[in-house]
Amino acid sequence: MTQRLTVIGTGYLGATHAACMADLGFDVLGLDADEDKIARLAAGDLPFYEPGLEPVLRRGLESGRLRFTTSYEEVAEFGDVHFLCVGTPQKPGEYAADLTYVDAAAGALAPLLHRPCLIVGKSTVPVGTAARLAETVAKSAPVGGDAVLAWNPEFLREGFAVDDTLHPDRIVAGLPAEQGAAEHAEKVLREIYRTMIADGTPFLTADYATAELVKVSANAFLATKISFINAMAEVCEAAHADVAKLSEALSYDDRIGGRFLGPGLGFGGGCLPKDIRAFMARAGELGADQALTFLREVDEINIRRRIRMVDLARRQLGGSFAGRTVGVLGAAFKPNSDDVRDSPALDVAASIRAQGGAVTVYDPRAMDNARRAQPSLAFAPSALDAVRDAHVVLLLTEWQEFREMDPADLSAVVAERNIVDGRNALEPEQWRAAGWNYRALGRP
Ligand code: NAD
Repeated sequence: MTQRLTVIGTGYLGATHAACMADLGFDVLGLDADEDKIARLAAGDLPFYEPGLEPVLRRGLESGRLRFTTSYEEVAEFGDVHFLCVGTPQKPGEYAADLTYVDAAAGALAPLLHRPCLIVGKSTVPVGTAARLAETVAKSAPVGGDAVLAWNPEFLREGFAVDDTLHPDRIVAGLPAEQGAAEHAEKVLREIYRTMIADGTPFLTADYATAELVKVSANAFLATKISFINAMAEVCEAAHADVAKLSEALSYDDRIGGRFLGPGLGFGGGCLPKDIRAFMARAGELGADQALTFLREVDEINIRRRIRMVDLARRQLGGSFAGRTVGVLGAAFKPNSDDVRDSPALDVAASIRAQGGAVTVYDPRAMDNARRAQPSLAFAPSALDAVRDAHVVLLLTEWQEFREMDPADLSAVVAERNIVDGRNALEPEQWRAAGWNYRALGRP
């Protein structure tokens, strides 16, 4: 039985995968280029916020099944299966994905492979990457063709990462063209994921290109769904209609469904924005750019929501931020995460600050990351402190804590009772009854 797994790149994806695989009974060795991250993980101290992950990490460490290193030699020596989980961010100033980290990881590992193994890519990559890496590995691994590559894209959501890893909707295995290698890779992956397959999780095999495309097309679909409802919000604003009601009515249609149909400030984070841009860039390289021109619109609708949010806040203040105080609730790109990569909330906060507003931000979990990303913003230790003396309050990330706020508590500390609900997360009637001037995106 395959027992010894390694996970290369232990960020949101890799740390979760490593801890969950150890929990399933495998011996796992995690590697990252970031020494501080490895030291913290090895001490059972999760370097980011993910609900429910720290106990799994600690259980793994205590059992002796989960260890961490920065040594590629140790990883190459140890692993029967190597999961590649390094980042694939957007290239600065371009739409394309930056594959530096994927190339560096594969390039560091391959020459050290002295025993047969399976390399399993989990990072989100442009179509064609797996085929290219398979060649690199075949050329530079001392075991040659005995180092087989598969692509197994990851669909986990931050905030639900443990559950998504242990109970995925489906498992997709992109396999090499050569039949013997493909059969071997499939057998090993079925063994690793056997508990999930036994639970009924669909296990689909495909060629590399299809597997890579499943991931980016899933993200393109989700981004499109969010931008669709936000485009409807724009029309609702023009027509004095209510997008929240519209969305609810649409959601009862089984063919449409209510998930990812919440109108508001739109998507952000370390995946959707950069993945749709990388998808457009790659389609362009392949001569299929026309197929994805709609994604440019999806991206633009999404960015327009941020601009609209700033406009609404400015309007509530009578047309200018100068000399005005703005309390911002939320910094993470979504609730239950401390991730502020391409966060709509921080973007809006920074834009208002740049226009002369005195902005104070509070987030239940993302304060450290937010401070690092936007050091010129002011931060407060609680929601009430963030909105103290504010002329307008902006709800930009829909944490449960904010949904449950009592308008009376805020009334006691703000300078003026103005609120813009960027996530359609509050009950307008409750706030209006408490004397607040409540506004939301896409609602009259
Ligand atoms: P992350 O930035 O949190 O983690 C990436 C890690 O890789 C970092 O810890 C970094 O230090 C490490 N790294 C970079 N170069 C390295 C190298 N050469 N050797 C070893 N380690 C190296 O990113 P993430 O959110 O975990 O995303 C990783 C990949 O997974 C991306 O392709 C992303 O698109 C994809 N993905 C992410 C999620 C998510 O929700 N975060 C979900 C599905 C897929």
